[in-house]
Amino acid sequence: MARIRAVLFDMDDTLIDWSGAQGDITAIETRHLRNVYNYLTGQNHQLPPFPDFFEQFRTTMFAVWAEAKKEWTGVSFSGVLQTLFDCYGLNADQIDMEAVLQAYDWGVVPGVVPFDDTISVLAQLKNEGYKTGLITNSMQPIWMREIELSAFGLLDYLDTRLTSGDVGYMKPHPVIYRRALELLGVAPEAAVFVGDRPENDIAGANEVGLTSVLISPPHLNRDLNGVEPNFTISKLEELLPILAQLEGES
Ligand SMILES: [Mg+2]
Repeated sequence: MARIRAVLFDMDDTLIDWSGAQGDITAIETRHLRNVYNYLTGQNHQLPPFPDFFEQFRTTMFAVWAEAKKEWTGVSFSGVLQTLFDCYGLNADQIDMEAVLQAYDWGVVPGVVPFDDTISVLAQLKNEGYKTGLITNSMQPIWMREIELSAFGLLDYLDTRLTSGDVGYMKPHPVIYRRALELLGVAPEAAVFVGDRPENDIAGANEVGLTSVLISPPHLNRDLNGVEPNFTISKLEELLPILAQLEGES
């Protein structure tokens, strides 16, 4: 019997390559948050000038993420937005949050692409009968990140997909790994996790008992900080011989 039945992946800088992203995170957020601002003012809500609104958004984000990282709880985007809106007296019953999230108009960030071997590796895993999953530390609901997965042609290769915003915990908290494993019906020792952040992706995978694979693409240089991955690769395709090796040991 095969030892490994499932391969789980982180999303950003594991399946998709952010090295060519056009504009920094502030520029990207500004573009999308302006859509929210325009939507709200179009609904006759009273808001300060956009730069002040954006500054308050940044302050709120920083505070909410800092708090969440203490216990690795998941930040939810709608929660962040509601905290922001509360600053302006906009209560939840005055806001159509679904419409706000639609107005945000999230999508592929220009310059971001899958790594050149992402699709071929996922296709081969499916061919060989592995179950696959995605766990991302994103505040967005999964339907927003699926806009990108779909645009990149990756969606159909991933059997289960979770964001920390939806689950309520972020990597390295064990709950988010266990949720994905439950959904796939696979035990931790029969699963591999691939990710680029030692302290999130790898530490959590190790704690839960998955085989951990650190992907260290050339544009990143992350500190291990004492975290020990079972394997380290620089390209996704290097995962395939590792799986063959693990099967050989079983
Ligand atoms: Mg990542």
